[in-house]
Amino acid sequence: MIPPMAIRSSISLDTRILDLPASIARLGPQGARKLALGVAENSIGKDISNVAVEDLLLYLPMRYEDRSSFTSIKDLEPGKEASLELFVKIAGGYQVRNRRAFRQRLFIFEISAHDRERTGREVVVWTFLSGQHAQQIVESYTKKFTRGTRFIAFGQWQWDKKRQTYSLRLNKPDEIEVLPSEPRPVGVAGGPDSLGEDPSLAAIHVVRCVPVYRKLSDIRPKQLREIIFRVLSALTDSEISETLPANLRKRQELIPRPEALRQIHFPPEDAKLADYDSARSPAHRRLIFEELFWLALALMLKRGQRIKETKGASIKIDESIKRRIASVLPFKLTEAQRRVVKEMFRDMKSAAPMNRLLQGDVGSGKTIVAMIAMLTAMENGYQTALMVPTEILAEQHARNIKRILAKSPFRIELLIGSIKPADKRKLHESIAAGEVHACIGTHALIQENVSFRNLGLAVIDEQHRFGVMQRAELRERGLNPDVLVMTATPIPRSLAMTVYGDLDVSIIDELPPGRTPIVTQIFADNADDRKDVKKLLTRELKSGRQIYVVYPLVEESEKLDLRDATRRYEYLRDAVFPKFSVGLLHGRMKPEEKEKVMRGFVSGKIQILVSTTVIEVGVDVPNASVMVIEHAERFGLSQLHQLRGRVGRGAEQSYCVLLASDKQTEVARERLGIMEETNDGFRIAEKDLEIRGPGEIMGTRQAGLPEFRVANLVRDQEILQAARKEAELCVNQAKSSSEAAKLIKRVKDDARLKLAAVG
Ligand code: ADP
Ligand code: MG
Repeated sequence: MIPPMAIRSSISLDTRILDLPASIARLGPQGARKLALGVAENSIGKDISNVAVEDLLLYLPMRYEDRSSFTSIKDLEPGKEASLELFVKIAGGYQVRNRRAFRQRLFIFEISAHDRERTGREVVVWTFLSGQHAQQIVESYTKKFTRGTRFIAFGQWQWDKKRQTYSLRLNKPDEIEVLPSEPRPVGVAGGPDSLGEDPSLAAIHVVRCVPVYRKLSDIRPKQLREIIFRVLSALTDSEISETLPANLRKRQELIPRPEALRQIHFPPEDAKLADYDSARSPAHRRLIFEELFWLALALMLKRGQRIKETKGASIKIDESIKRRIASVLPFKLTEAQRRVVKEMFRDMKSAAPMNRLLQGDVGSGKTIVAMIAMLTAMENGYQTALMVPTEILAEQHARNIKRILAKSPFRIELLIGSIKPADKRKLHESIAAGEVHACIGTHALIQENVSFRNLGLAVIDEQHRFGVMQRAELRERGLNPDVLVMTATPIPRSLAMTVYGDLDVSIIDELPPGRTPIVTQIFADNADDRKDVKKLLTRELKSGRQIYVVYPLVEESEKLDLRDATRRYEYLRDAVFPKFSVGLLHGRMKPEEKEKVMRGFVSGKIQILVSTTVIEVGVDVPNASVMVIEHAERFGLSQLHQLRGRVGRGAEQSYCVLLASDKQTEVARERLGIMEETNDGFRIAEKDLEIRGPGEIMGTRQAGLPEFRVANLVRDQEILQAARKEAELCVNQAKSSSEAAKLIKRVKDDARLKLAAVG
């Protein structure tokens, strides 16, 4: 626990970081700005001018280190993670030859050091340094780590054959924490060896469990530890208001908020560190619960509201409609598709508007399900709309649906941005007059001048590509229409319930029959491996199959990437596969050009399609059998899975080639390895969730959720269940308990949670 300190300035959780008294932050105006900037970057919806102490305190340690006792050198084992208190024997740097980028100079800075006992041999702590100022940095560190300097090094120690001792490689030299040469009791001034740091705080860095933070803008982890310590000391418990009612806390065994905020940074002496590292300490539980509780409550309120509404359309589904639907289906539905259709029919027949999420792995056959829903609404005399994220996909859907419904009396139209203004105007008129029965398109569907006469069903495909607002806008074109949203980014069911708390979830968990699983293999980006890849591609091309080659396009360097993709296209066309026809597709091309290339690929005229990720979603060309992904390491797993889903759509063997420039690194191997292991989108999504968290995958903004600060939806499923239960109780007691009413009011007033109540 944190002892109250002498500094007692009046600050509260709402104090802006920029207003933190200098006596607490010990930062100049520039430093304070940096701190505010760093905290703002980690607090969604905040900026430098309004980030407050509360946001700082919710910047949690990434891990904790037990420094109540240090490991000694003689107890090290290869691969052991340990914290050592060390004393510099000698430190220095030298230049090494850099094979990869020989114009860049590469240095190694290393410290050889012994521990307090001086028994074991000396160990080495080292790091690479490169870049323009590498040499200066080496020099300054050499000066800093003079003989006898006391420091702490934490990490995974390895037996170093070359050096014949244990060594620890750090990513950056500032991961090393320098300490005053000996611990001093609190309050005693430091000598010249204290390196200009606050000696009275030395005690918070050793002889206890210490929090280790990620570097926050330019604030070093150790400095941040001191700032947070002083902030917590200056805050009295009464300034940290309790947010949860006492009886709820008692039921859920949650500690008070002030305690939680203190302990999560500075665990009490008797704390079990393992609980802290796994986010299961009482402090973690309390803060995670709270965060999930607000979310669950917001979603539940919203759902209650929707169920009370009635939709504009009234839908009947009788035998004759079912027969007409059955007569147009090009194939027999899978068991899963049939189940989903049943769930959907139930919603459509009910008086409340349908709000259903249809999840299904790539290629599981969601389109036909959407078409059945559309046909049902049209048979009942209502207009329908299908919105998709790309023109290519809109065209494909329109083509297919027109083909399937060719004999029906319904008029189906494509509405995308690139059609001629005059045609567009006419189309708008027909839609408003109710003459168009199914409108398939992109964002063009939610432009201002589009209005429907009686939109009864809105379908949104690849919904994770749209923002909450866009989804809401389509819905608003009708009078409380039925809504079906579809996604191929599979997320575990329990998670979907929360993330899409206001949606009912249907899952297609079965692929259409006759698919051969795709073979996936990782290759290194070198001449040898590329030769193997070429062999595979040539074989497939010769047997009449088609190939995708995909390049990443990251926003920051879009120009460069585009140049890469274009060059690669020219190279493949002219040098590697001169006998085959190669096409290029990227988002910057004019719509007509794109359409031409895509049509060429669909018809088989183009055999190799070099593309950016514009083909990621939905594109369906069954004759394509190889997906080559360049710089695979730059993609998220779910995205790789989406891309891979473009092949393997027929019975023949298909391949996915992942070219990774850092195939050798452990991270890449572990991450990409799962792609070789499985074709199961759910397993991949779970792994992706573990690695990147839900925000990144689903785009929290798109999912309509506030970013989580403490909670992790994958890790915290159990707490989530408890939070949902309490939220339900609260909703049920809204009228009878003033406490519950207060909680509900709080949620309704919270700007961050309002977003959750939109889509
Ligand atoms: P996704 O779920 O990725 O949108 P699609 O709807 O594009 O998948 O379907 C993938 C492919 O599977 C399409 O070529 C489609 O015609 C085909 N398909 C869908 N359902 C079935 C089925 N029950 N039997 C056979 N083929 C099917
Ligand atoms: Mg699809």
